[in-house]
Amino acid sequence: MGHKITNKNMKRVLEVARDGKVSTTTVGWTPNVKDEEYTKYKEEEKQRKLDQEEKHEMFKQHRMPWFCPECNSVMNKRLDNKFWRIHNKCMGCVIKEETHMRATGQYDLYEKEKMVLNAISNLKDYKIQFELALEQTNTETFVHESGEVEKWKTIGTLDHLKENIKKDIIKIDESLEQLQSDLEDIIKQKT
Ligand SMILES: [Zn+2]
Repeated sequence: MGHKITNKNMKRVLEVARDGKVSTTTVGWTPNVKDEEYTKYKEEEKQRKLDQEEKHEMFKQHRMPWFCPECNSVMNKRLDNKFWRIHNKCMGCVIKEETHMRATGQYDLYEKEKMVLNAISNLKDYKIQFELALEQTNTETFVHESGEVEKWKTIGTLDHLKENIKKDIIKIDESLEQLQSDLEDIIKQKT
């Protein structure tokens, strides 16, 4: 009996990786192989994230206060909620702030910072998934959700897969380092 893979996404990584096709394109990270299987995987993951965000939003909707903590105006459930979720203030305050940043030339930095933070968060997610996938390659068989047990095609394939995953993890680390230093630069420029 092989090790049971419970995490759907990880299983997906493994399935794709097993055929030697691990690939994705994320800011700052160029992986070993490119292919449509992975695009599909990414789309599924995006959907999963959207579902999560929706749940998160529903949860936050309850928590949005009556008044904006910054300007004390009454918050509008429909209009302000999105802004509250991201910025913890009302839409009017966010727009005012962004207008001010545009006027003072800070807006580009602000946008860049958001992009870098987002890329860092995505890469960290990938790293965890690849590390888990690597762990899974220590077993000789794995179990599909259907219960069907499958053996890795050959040990050669498994070694190749491990190497690819390791290479991708190294690339992720390099990109993370680069992004962290980009972020530090941005923070320096802001002050
Ligand atoms: Zn406000």
